Amino acid sequence: MTKLYLDIDGVLLTARHTQAAPGVAAFVEFVTQHFACYWLTTHCKGDSAPALRYLSRFLAPDTLEKLRQAVQPTFWDTLKTEAIDVAADFYWLDDSPFQSEIAYLQARSVADRLLVVNLSNADELPRLQQLLQSKLYSTTSLTSLAEHLNIQYGIRGTITREEFETGFKQFQDEVLNSNPPK
Ligand SMILES: [Mg+2]
Repeated sequence: MTKLYLDIDGVLLTARHTQAAPGVAAFVEFVTQHFACYWLTTHCKGDSAPALRYLSRFLAPDTLEKLRQAVQPTFWDTLKTEAIDVAADFYWLDDSPFQSEIAYLQARSVADRLLVVNLSNADELPRLQQLLQSKLYSTTSLTSLAEHLNIQYGIRGTITREEFETGFKQFQDEVLNSNPPK
């Protein structure tokens, strides 16, 4: 599974006048399902608890719970890149990486794995979700319709997938009704 390193301020929360980033619930649902997620934030230095405590002031309980279950802690000291497993398939979401962190990635030819987040763009998290989704497609060889649906809409039981299933059922019913068997 591809690793995803997650910053908090400027990614899941707005950096100024701190509040939940628009679209954060759907974004968290998506990334926690499809990536092996790791914290990469000043709020986590080896222990996820402070990050979750901080997030609990701004995020809905169900979103917080998904993060609690899925996101693993990292330890880093000076540069966030210390915690990144550059040998693995990974992406890193951050709003303000240091020049030295970018240089570290460039030296290892993985600078394209850094996705810089700018929450002042409208629909930034939905845009990133789509970008990550397209990257999943390019690395996954699809073997079945079920797998395709899991990637595109999420697994059964999630809101996005059930919305798809309901819409698809309606579509099937309409097709059947407009072409009644003779
Ligand atoms: Mg940040």
